[in-house]
Amino acid sequence: MTKTLTGGCCCGEVAFSLQDNFSQFYFCHCEQCRKLTGSAHASNLFTSPDNIKWTKGEDNLVRYDHPTRTFSKVFCKVCGSGLPFVTQSGRLLIVPAGSLNEEPTIDVKANIFCAEQPKWYKAGLAAEKLDGFP
Ligand SMILES: [Zn+2]
Ligand SMILES: [Zn+2]
Repeated sequence: MTKTLTGGCCCGEVAFSLQDNFSQFYFCHCEQCRKLTGSAHASNLFTSPDNIKWTKGEDNLVRYDHPTRTFSKVFCKVCGSGLPFVTQSGRLLIVPAGSLNEEPTIDVKANIFCAEQPKWYKAGLAAEKLDGFP
């Protein structure tokens, strides 16, 4: 029996549940993921396309598919938070780990596309660590 995890967007208009049953967990440092997340890397869990139950606000989802490449993003139209989506091939459900309310069991398997990391990412890892604003 796998555990049920819940997740949703920042504003609370969209919520979902799924089973804690993931095949991969990658931090992707590629340029597309940097742009799509606005952050240093995507934190993506992979599972099967049917492992999702939208429990609130599915009609608030907006999907972007790049016109010539295979990357996509689904986000809340109210707050812009990244949310789970089925890949263009239909073979996988990609779950942004930050959209979950609880911790998945799987460990991060790899950092991928590290050659595309900006210099500020490595500098940031070495920077001072505080528990709040300075
Ligand atoms: Zn939202
Ligand atoms: Zn990527």
